[in-house]
Amino acid sequence: MIDRFHRNVTYLRVSVTDRCQMSCSYCTLQEEPREVLSAREIGELIRVAGGRLGFRKIRLTGGEPLLRPDLVQVVEEVVATREIVEVAMTTNGLLLAEKAEALARAGLRTVNVSLDTLDPARFRELTKAGSLEAVVEGLRAAKRAGIPRRKLNVVLLGGVNEEEVADIVRFGGEEEVEVRFIEHMPMDDSRLTSWRVDPDMVRAKLRDEFGELQPIATEKSGGPAELWLIDGVRVGFIRAISGPFCDRCNRLRVTSEGKIRSCLLSGGEVDLAGVLRGGASEEERAVELAALFQIAADAKPPVYELMRDGAVPMRQVGG
Ligand code: SAM
Repeated sequence: MIDRFHRNVTYLRVSVTDRCQMSCSYCTLQEEPREVLSAREIGELIRVAGGRLGFRKIRLTGGEPLLRPDLVQVVEEVVATREIVEVAMTTNGLLLAEKAEALARAGLRTVNVSLDTLDPARFRELTKAGSLEAVVEGLRAAKRAGIPRRKLNVVLLGGVNEEEVADIVRFGGEEEVEVRFIEHMPMDDSRLTSWRVDPDMVRAKLRDEFGELQPIATEKSGGPAELWLIDGVRVGFIRAISGPFCDRCNRLRVTSEGKIRSCLLSGGEVDLAGVLRGGASEEERAVELAALFQIAADAKPPVYELMRDGAVPMRQVGG
């Protein structure tokens, strides 16, 4: 699907729940949980997105996707649309050990596990729930289950984990996962300066530790990460703040309650749930949904406006 700035929108991030066991200091939800789309409704959206509009990649996110009892069914619904070539999930990993095999069988091919620190006490302090050990077990279970692409999402937090970056790269090598250092996006202005970490400083630190970093070429149409090979580990930097990638943004987001959000940071939502739950035939619904997707794509701003709408409900939107 082409938007009005000629960007080819092919990647849909679907928040499947706004619930989470963790309360990460930088990712809090103030609102009450709402009614979420059913697996069948998500399947219908994906048929329209993949079958009619050219979407090729789906990421399930949240909230914490593994809290959904019917997550395997959601993956099956997504995989059933054969135009979708990549089915991915972002998770905190706490429940991954018990669910990895069923998810792999259902067709999940990429899992991003969020882990910001390797220090158990710091992990508890940051997340207020769960154990580092369970997350690491989850990562290992994903490997045993044969999920081929496994990544670690690490949000860089000044004064919290910036001294750990070399250890995290080594950990990535040991566990055979790609590491993604993500620039923290301030959702309110209170931590704007205290959590700021310059990704270039992080790269310099890694160069001191491991020697010259080898860039990995990425297609211009590829994802937002700048990729490097460090000590044999693929390491990506996602610089949403210091190096915005809006000009090649290829994504839309569906919130857990069934709205398309045009941009993570700049708002603009179009409701799909009303159509999904309306009385029209499936064909009529598909035509209406396709038109709503186009409206949402055309509402994508050329460049995001940070905090224009105040705090972003990250869990509901899906990060
Ligand atoms: N519960 C899942 C998890 O923990 O990965 C999925 C949802 S979470 C909102 C998705 C990703 O967004 C996580 O990797 C999280 O670290 C990241 N995230 C949340 N708030 C953020 C912020 N303010 N800046 C940058 N990344 C953030």
